[in-house]
Amino acid sequence: MEKDNSKSKTSKSDEKEKKIETCYTCNEKFDISADDFSHYHYGKYPMCDYCSQFYGFYK
Ligand SMILES: [Zn+2]
Repeated sequence: MEKDNSKSKTSKSDEKEKKIETCYTCNEKFDISADDFSHYHYGKYPMCDYCSQFYGFYK
């Protein structure tokens, strides 16, 4: 009966898939899938969280 419960706590839940990109502005590597301001500028240029805020590019 309690077998199914143990599953929710393991591996999958917190394992967000990372996508490492290199920022085209500052050349820093960053995780574009992170929940921050990082995004693809013009849909193709990876821009990190810092630069996105610095230049005021919001999604
Ligand atoms: Zn940057």
